[in-house]
Amino acid sequence: MTIESRWKIAIPRCSLQQWIFGSATGPVPDYKAFLDPEDPDRNFITFSNYRLLAKRVALGLQRAGLKRGDRVLVFSGNNLFFPSVFIGVLMAGGIFTGANPTFVPRELAYQLRDSEASFLIVAEAGLKTALEAAKEAGFPRDRIYVFGGNTPPASELLKAPNPEPGAKGRIDGVKHWTELLAGNGVRAETWSWEEPANPEETTCCLNYSSGTTGVPKGVEISHYSYVANGAGVVYCSKLDPEFEERLKRSRGLCFLPLYHAYGQTYFVANMPYLRVPVYVMAGFDFLKMLEYVQRFKISTLTLVPPIMIALAKHPLTKKYDLSSVDTLGCGAAPLSREVAEEVQKLLPNSEVVVRQGWGMTEMTCTAMSWDPRLRKFSSGVGEMMPNSKAKLMSLDGKTEILKANERGELWVTGPSLLRRYWRKPQATADTIVVDADGTRWLKTGDIAFVEEYKPGGIFHVVDRLKELIKVKGNQVAPAELEAVLLESPDVADVAVIGVTIDGGELPRAYVVKDPRSKATEKDIAEWMKGRVAYYKQLKGGVVFTDIIPKNPSGKILRAKLRERAKQEVGDS
Ligand code: AMP
Repeated sequence: MTIESRWKIAIPRCSLQQWIFGSATGPVPDYKAFLDPEDPDRNFITFSNYRLLAKRVALGLQRAGLKRGDRVLVFSGNNLFFPSVFIGVLMAGGIFTGANPTFVPRELAYQLRDSEASFLIVAEAGLKTALEAAKEAGFPRDRIYVFGGNTPPASELLKAPNPEPGAKGRIDGVKHWTELLAGNGVRAETWSWEEPANPEETTCCLNYSSGTTGVPKGVEISHYSYVANGAGVVYCSKLDPEFEERLKRSRGLCFLPLYHAYGQTYFVANMPYLRVPVYVMAGFDFLKMLEYVQRFKISTLTLVPPIMIALAKHPLTKKYDLSSVDTLGCGAAPLSREVAEEVQKLLPNSEVVVRQGWGMTEMTCTAMSWDPRLRKFSSGVGEMMPNSKAKLMSLDGKTEILKANERGELWVTGPSLLRRYWRKPQATADTIVVDADGTRWLKTGDIAFVEEYKPGGIFHVVDRLKELIKVKGNQVAPAELEAVLLESPDVADVAVIGVTIDGGELPRAYVVKDPRSKATEKDIAEWMKGRVAYYKQLKGGVVFTDIIPKNPSGKILRAKLRERAKQEVGDS
């Protein structure tokens, strides 16, 4: 028996850009869609300029040779232009793929190769890394564009409809991204993108995720799924009888990274769809976040557990006026009930309820939602999104669990389900189970229970079956770290698991040393420096061991190691 959503909605069959803007050339409101919180009066992009700039990026990419279905990799932190570049890639008929801006060259080279990107747009701060990665992946330098850098403020950039093409703004001989805009300011006004004939089968982005096992993979999300995710989130928000009133004073603050589904779906798509102004922070800074909430009367906060912990514990939180916040959601990793309750106490508006959401890159983003009319706090993650359903399966995947409050692996399905993993049919077949009715079920690798077996039952996510480690909301794939560690001459065998320390997960390696090695645990941890991004470092510890527990077919028995880690560090 499946647990259905209580809601059925009509999902527009169109491109994501069509859903957001409504049309390519028709009038759109001219409110300030994206603002720089450091200089909001001068540096902003209006909604109509969001569309115009995206169209110019699209025209520039097409002129540079982008063909339908080509991938464009963006390697950058957040900036005001990021959403226009994202949507510009889609308008050009391309596929967006974003990389974590803290990646080291080998990680970026992997994504360049795996996605077979045709273009790389990179923040100036990441240029050195990008050039090394491009060399490693054999990626041509003339397909790299520097993003940000000496880009003029948005208002000036847009005042000059036809900036001069050429080498003026080039850095290290690499083109500046504004060259994409050159000479197309007038044409873009009347240009329309080509709508995909079949939005269900037209991929708009490859957001990388390791899924339940293995290395990061490109998750193919179609235009239809992206729109379904947004339409579902919007539908649930509108159940609030005060929605229209709230919308008038709604303001978002974007510090979640835009390369990841969480930040991307909310700030590139859903908030602009609702015409909500978004203040875009270049990166996360806790005190600045508090200051901006107070100064700009931010109404909606989309958080991850480490920020919730900081909110609950930081002595300065109480010094700021957070009374404008009327929506506070937290997702991406487990949130403890104590922390949620502490944050709840901080919010002066008693109408506001801290909400935990559950999502997955493979479900575009949000898979569970809350009925805003339920004002009671819960430690659950909500109910299934519109047009979606879930079931709980025994851990061997063979029997369905039919009792309330009994734990099982969460399987979900719905219109926002991924098409497949990019060029990885085996990984796709291992993750998506097609049942007798032809329904495609995603095995989430999360362990959950439902409060009641009925449509709209509230789920609780209580554990993780899959290998994935979440460090401050970022994905860390043990298989990736194990492969890097095995390159070390000191390591004969290795397994990486996550341990929970001070409420956050960290990667911990169990290492069988090469018999000739004199390396210490510290040396092994040092080996990772420069080879993987900072958040993948082995901050959960390195432990030497005689043997890695494995089953007869060689699969690491991670549960055994997790048990062991629990004894060693009091892992929860
Ligand atoms: P990602 O694809 O990066 O969004 O990661 C998805 C995974 O993050 C899920 O499968 C869960 O393991 C974890 N996750 C997301 N939200 C929650 C939550 N509210 N509670 C527990 N785990 C979560």
